[in-house]
Amino acid sequence: MSKKINIAIDGHSSCGKSTIAKSISQKFQMRYIDTGAMYRAITLFCLQNNLISEGIVNTKGLKKHLDSINLGFEYNSENKVSETFLNGENIENKIRGLQVSENVSFVAKIPFVRKKLVLLQQEIGKEKNVVMDGRDIGTKVFPDAEIKFFVTADVQIRAKRRFEEMNSKDVSFDQILNNLKMRDENDTRRDTNPLKMAEDAILIDNSDKSLEQQNNFVFSKIEKVLKNGN
Ligand code: C5P
Repeated sequence: MSKKINIAIDGHSSCGKSTIAKSISQKFQMRYIDTGAMYRAITLFCLQNNLISEGIVNTKGLKKHLDSINLGFEYNSENKVSETFLNGENIENKIRGLQVSENVSFVAKIPFVRKKLVLLQQEIGKEKNVVMDGRDIGTKVFPDAEIKFFVTADVQIRAKRRFEEMNSKDVSFDQILNNLKMRDENDTRRDTNPLKMAEDAILIDNSDKSLEQQNNFVFSKIEKVLKNGN
């Protein structure tokens, strides 16, 4: 790819942002960064160190430890996933469970946590050629991203997809549905960098779209920008 661009993908929980980001990353050879994994990693750290209980974070305790938390990403060529590391440990599976999902939006609303992670994300994006997904990428992390997508879908459809994907006897459909609703609500209403569509973002509602339709749409938008600059 000759022209170097950044692509921001924001949207509601479990609406397929990472699927889109991975397809873009493969087709256009761009680096994929999953910022949700960063917030999930800090949440796991809080859970492992008794710094969160019933949605209340011990912010003093977390602040003390934050600078010593080392986040890393390594591309696993076997499963083609960029895996998340917390202080050297591969935590990719641990951060995807319901316990982290139930607590993450309480950690993600803390201003000093956001400040640290946004700076890290901006540093990664400096060289360009990055596709990043999250909640505040187009509004806060890369307000000048060359392309921004905002993805959504009906919450029942999102919960059904997630339920089928998790395929776990321990988690019910209703637990997943309630978790998605709770996170959407918390992410949209928080004071610091709330989830909202950037004015110049392209909206994708994939409730009734196949993956192929969605990819065709997204790829054509990107190709247009790479060719014409808009
Ligand atoms: O993307 P994912 O669902 O894994 O994100 C987990 C949580 O991390 C979100 O519900 C949100 O609370 C938080 N998050 C955020 N800002 C981002 C990415 C994720 O607040 N850029």
